[in-house]
Amino acid sequence: MDETVKTDHTDPPFWRAKRLDEMSRDEWESLCDLCGRCCLNKLEDEETGEIFWTDVACKLLDPTSCRCTSYANRHDFVPDCVELDVEEVVTQTYTWLPPTCAYRLLAEGRDLFLWHPLVSGDPESVHRAGVSVRGRVRSEEDIPADSLEDWIVEWPGEVPVPPPPRPPRRKNRFKTTE
Ligand code: SF4
Ligand code: SF4
Repeated sequence: MDETVKTDHTDPPFWRAKRLDEMSRDEWESLCDLCGRCCLNKLEDEETGEIFWTDVACKLLDPTSCRCTSYANRHDFVPDCVELDVEEVVTQTYTWLPPTCAYRLLAEGRDLFLWHPLVSGDPESVHRAGVSVRGRVRSEEDIPADSLEDWIVEWPGEVPVPPPPRPPRRKNRFKTTE
């Protein structure tokens, strides 16, 4: 999360006041709660398009901080790492993002959960809420490359139970797209 983005709790915070495509780069980046879920390997059913999550993490993911260890030059090591952009999110091609992801929540017209660091003011709250991958993943370097199917799990595609509290649903913030 970009710590230069400040939240003012007397006004609507930027993620309620602005559409995703109106946000500054810093605001956009700060939406990432650093849960690490999107850095898990996924499998896609070729026929149905269904996504299956595994608990096998990208080799660059630090399993404790849940941060990318080479974010700035990650494409030198992981060429297919997806760079999430506004267009992809607002056109709803984000089924591979977990249901807890701030980008997906806002694109769906929902609000951030109370554990989101922008709301809680505490980067550790995403870990305490059981949302991050901390302590429950293995590196792809530690398993045979052809064994991903053996590591399919449900939790990255779910909201933790009981669900973390969240403010009431907001008005639709979708930008109409053709
Ligand atoms: S799933 Fe979303 S919130 Fe979590 S690390 Fe990825 S982009 Fe950030
Ligand atoms: S390269 Fe970094 S950001 Fe991309 S999936 Fe791997 S750990 Fe995540």
